[in-house]
Amino acid sequence: MVTVGVFGAAGRMGATVCAAVAEAPNLELVAAVDPGAAGQSLVEATGVDVDIEVVGMAENITDPPAVMVDFTHLEAARYNLAWCAENAVHAVVGTTGFTETDLTGFLADFDRSNCLIAPNFAIGAILMMRFAEMAAPYFETAEVIEYHHDAKLDAPSGTAMRTIERMAAANASWAPDPTVTHTVPGARGGEAAPGIRVHAVRMRGMVAHQEVLLGTTGQTLQIRHDSYDRTSFMPGVVLACQRIADLPGLTIGLDPLLGL
Ligand code: NAP
Repeated sequence: MVTVGVFGAAGRMGATVCAAVAEAPNLELVAAVDPGAAGQSLVEATGVDVDIEVVGMAENITDPPAVMVDFTHLEAARYNLAWCAENAVHAVVGTTGFTETDLTGFLADFDRSNCLIAPNFAIGAILMMRFAEMAAPYFETAEVIEYHHDAKLDAPSGTAMRTIERMAAANASWAPDPTVTHTVPGARGGEAAPGIRVHAVRMRGMVAHQEVLLGTTGQTLQIRHDSYDRTSFMPGVVLACQRIADLPGLTIGLDPLLGL
């Protein structure tokens, strides 16, 4: 049995993770951290009926579990991951927005436990990224449009950035942008890698969606993925908790666990 704790347990993703871990075979939910719900029982904070009290900070965890899951905010996640590395706890991380400097730091810090950071835990999204990377060498123009719920704090999404990094690595020569006049600043989105633009839509009612558009002479290819519900991420989170001990050091993306 792998013991698991959840940072951001009372958040939208955290509460869904608590429910998934509580039901998963071979996983035991033993800790929940969330400053906004400190002192509440888990069932009060999340509706998940496991006999745990939510604590406010990582330091309040009395018996560190084997794995901590983090779906919080950037600053909180930096703090939580430092605690995991110091306490030799494996980290499964869905929080997005880390910089290259953050990743270099995690690579050095996780020397006694492992860290898996996945910008997207949904199998369809992982395949979307792979298909976009495979298609990239055959096209001259590409743009990525990501759509999220209206409470998302960072833009563009980690999934969009990871997709574009992989497309850029697969094809370094994209056609130049022909736009001469920008009547509205930002109308052409942001250039996330040379020649590949990203557009971030924030929309009430949505969860997480992305389109990769690729074009060449006389044809386009559109690759689209939709997460309609936060449960779409849970099989990936559960798999990561079950297998993190087998992935030494820092791993980015769920791909190695899916054989991709
Ligand atoms: P959310 O509802 O705002 O939840 C974040 C939770 O973290 C809040 O309850 C917050 O508490 C708590 N928190 C803040 N500081 C903390 C700390 N130091 N320790 C423990 N918990 C802390 O946000 P969300 O929609 O669940 O999204 C969370 C993250 O997951 C975002 O970065 C989002 O981009 C990412 N995400 C990733 C995936 C993926 O597949 N990788 C999928 C969906 C979302 P307070 O409200 O009291 O501050």
